[in-house]
Amino acid sequence: MPPPPGFRPLAYTLIRRIVLVATLCMLGMGGLSALLAYSEVREEFDHTVHTIADSGLQTLSGALRDIEVQAVQAQVDWLANRPEIGWVKVEAAIGGRFVAGDEARAETGTSIVLEILANDGASQVGTLEIVANRNRFREEMVSEVTEVVIHYLAFTLLICLAVIWILRRELQDPLQQIARFAASLQPKQLAQPLTIDRRRTRGVDEIDLVVAGFRRLQADLRHHIDSLDETVAERTRQLNEVVDEVKRLSVTDPLTGCYNRRHLDQHLPAEMERSFRYLRPLSVVFIDLDHFKRINDRFGHDAGDQVLREIVARLMQSVREHIDWVARFGGEEFVIVLPERGRDGAREMAERMRRLVASTPVMLDEVALEITACCGVAEYRRGDRVAELLARADAALYEAKARGRNRVVVAGEALLATGT
Ligand code: GH3
Ligand code: MG
Ligand code: MG
Repeated sequence: MPPPPGFRPLAYTLIRRIVLVATLCMLGMGGLSALLAYSEVREEFDHTVHTIADSGLQTLSGALRDIEVQAVQAQVDWLANRPEIGWVKVEAAIGGRFVAGDEARAETGTSIVLEILANDGASQVGTLEIVANRNRFREEMVSEVTEVVIHYLAFTLLICLAVIWILRRELQDPLQQIARFAASLQPKQLAQPLTIDRRRTRGVDEIDLVVAGFRRLQADLRHHIDSLDETVAERTRQLNEVVDEVKRLSVTDPLTGCYNRRHLDQHLPAEMERSFRYLRPLSVVFIDLDHFKRINDRFGHDAGDQVLREIVARLMQSVREHIDWVARFGGEEFVIVLPERGRDGAREMAERMRRLVASTPVMLDEVALEITACCGVAEYRRGDRVAELLARADAALYEAKARGRNRVVVAGEALLATGT
């Protein structure tokens, strides 16, 4: 991943500042040392000049006393040839002038004038005038100061290189590794731990703390995500349960617990389709309680509800589990769907149900209610529509009612079963 715009490595900034500070220190210290070197060189130079002058005085004294002109001139030349000396003049007391060196220096430089005494020290035999060679002084000074500055420069350079090396190794490299790791981190790779290549052996520093903090954060995040997954799975499970319950309730008749009309509308076509496709028999039974209104009228609506619940419970127990099913069509009228049953099987089944209703009275607070029901049976015919099938069963039921109730009538047949 390329660095963002304006990115400037931390080590670069630190190194720049350290180099700047080191340079300023070097300039300050170097300047001070140069000043000291200057005054030292100057003192030493002056001292040398005086020493040279003093050493010449003895010889000059003897030469002047003996009036040895050549010896005096030789001594003057010798003095002038010394690198520190620019110009020399000796004036003898008895007359005579000896000069050597660069005349121009005599006019610009500051001269030292010394008396040349006789060996007894009582009388003066002449004067010695010396002008120092300033060029020589400057050369010495430049060389000394240059040496000091080079010394400081080399020292500063070495320190800076060492600091750069240490900063790179100790700071920049580990930080870059952490930055690269952080930039490449993906939610799916949270388990991958942050490891950095460091040549540290002892102790713990801030980088170790950052790495440890990073690892802790990764572990906490993973834990959090895992627990989120668990929470989501648990909530989904609960939600699915609620959805299933809502679905179940939406197709369940609240009073009796059997399926409702909505379920019948949704599933009967599927049963018919299956029967059509696989050439399997299918029948429906309409069952309607006889004179049910009277029970309501006599014992109240709650009693009627109780009877409905009881009768439906009997019906649901009598059908084949997971194959046949009971749906409330409306009021006290129910449809029983019988897959895999043809007309005969359905007739038998309807008869069994009719008996199931009529044979045992429904107990209502010590009152035994004799209940009967009529059944209309219709078998599915290929090409039937839902309404047609149900209409045939309903017609059979109507027929059963017309024939005196507590009966089973199969659509398309004469009255076959009668109440007992
Ligand atoms: P038939 O033998 O001709 O079927 O007569 P019936 O009285 O059973 O039929 P009718 O259609 O005249 O009356 C049906 C009654 O069923 C009327 C209504 O009050 C009652 N009923 C319908 N739904 C419920 C219910 O949920 N609870 C109660 N208690 N009664 C209901
Ligand atoms: Mg009825
Ligand atoms: Mg009815």
